Amino acid sequence: MMPFKELVLASHNAGKLKELQAMLGDAVRVRSVGEFSDVEPEETGLSFIENAILKARNAARVSGLPALADDSGLAVDHLGGAPGIYSARYADGQGDAANNAKLLDVLKDVPDAERGAQFVCALALVRHAEDPLPIICEGLWHGRILHAPRGEQGFGYDPLFWVPERDRSSAELTPTDKNQLSHRARAMALLKARLGI
Ligand code: IMP
Repeated sequence: MMPFKELVLASHNAGKLKELQAMLGDAVRVRSVGEFSDVEPEETGLSFIENAILKARNAARVSGLPALADDSGLAVDHLGGAPGIYSARYADGQGDAANNAKLLDVLKDVPDAERGAQFVCALALVRHAEDPLPIICEGLWHGRILHAPRGEQGFGYDPLFWVPERDRSSAELTPTDKNQLSHRARAMALLKARLGI
């Protein structure tokens, strides 16, 4: 049972809102934080979880509603988890292609056995802005960084992320397949279980 009738999503992305609404069904109305404020909070945390909590608290504060936030990215073992929370702007805001080129360059002499990586998605749900007990769900998707891009689907680092259980890159998966395996899917499944839906 959903414990509340309305929820605000700490994202301005209409696609994410639609996806979440579909996942939660009619039991709860999902609203965008954009209805309440255009100001995005500074992501000052050092982990995905800290940033997700920070965004959720901000959305709850501006809306007065329970709030859900996500934070995601790619953590490469050989780089101590980089680019991590800085995944989107790894190449100083020059976009996905530049991010991928930089990652390939940084890893150019690293052998396959040391190219392990995971996509990470942290979800934080707070009942109100000062909630001392946020619900936190983290989804990890383990793979390996390729030596060159493969595939046209997806976005971000998908062309560089080798998915061992499918023997192809994440950008070679159908959207349906990716949505069943991904870090986001895993975190969402955990959240649904926690909420009993
Ligand atoms: P966001 O915070 O969910 O927008 O994601 C942060 C960044 O992490 C994105 O800009 C991508 O660079 C990377 N990222 C997160 N999830 C994925 C994914 O499923 N595929 C590829 N890249 C991803």
